[in-house]
Amino acid sequence: MKESLYKCEKCGDTGWILIPQEKYAPLAVSCDCRQLEIIKNGWVKAGINPEISKQTFSSFEVWNEASRKIKETAMAYYKDFSTIKNNRRNSILLCGQVGSGKSHVSVALALNLLKKNVKVVYMPYRDTITKLKQNMVDGVYYEKIITKYKSCEVLLIDDLFKGKITEADINIIFEIINHRYLNHLPLIISTEYLVNDLLNFDEAVGSRIYEMCKDYTVEIEKGKEGNFRLK
Ligand SMILES: [Zn+2]
Repeated sequence: MKESLYKCEKCGDTGWILIPQEKYAPLAVSCDCRQLEIIKNGWVKAGINPEISKQTFSSFEVWNEASRKIKETAMAYYKDFSTIKNNRRNSILLCGQVGSGKSHVSVALALNLLKKNVKVVYMPYRDTITKLKQNMVDGVYYEKIITKYKSCEVLLIDDLFKGKITEADINIIFEIINHRYLNHLPLIISTEYLVNDLLNFDEAVGSRIYEMCKDYTVEIEKGKEGNFRLK
């Protein structure tokens, strides 16, 4: 096979694809690779560089039953992704015990998908919710930020419901989750809460997450032996 001169064959690395129009000048639409670049920049801004991150599957050491299950479930999800991505049950939930490696594995999973050009947006829960609440009065700007989380190809919510939960937090999360639920858009979620806790916080949010993640849920009961940092 002839080696390509370009990283992206579709746009010749310009970031734009020109679509010829009958009477007018060609229409320029942004190429997939450009959108992928923008998403990768979002990761870098959140402190994770997808190109050099050490949070990979192979760097995740299994040290007990729970950590083995987390890793295996995430790897199975990765393997199945292309066949399940449009289904109702197309998402993954890693929940429970702090320090069990949920965050590491969910980031590793997301970065593997990014390498396959799947547009995974990273949402550090606490920071994002705070930013959204601060911008609620500016409707246009608020819509612009929240649309990214509602409509992206895959959304990783890291540490869902970390910190104190207010009614405004629940409303924002519902808006994001419900949109993704209705449109069959996959979620990758890590949280220290178990499914029952999520249902208790808000049944509408909890039940949607439960339904979407049913086939790929790992719950780790709280207990010292599950915490890697205390090992
Ligand atoms: Zn391109």
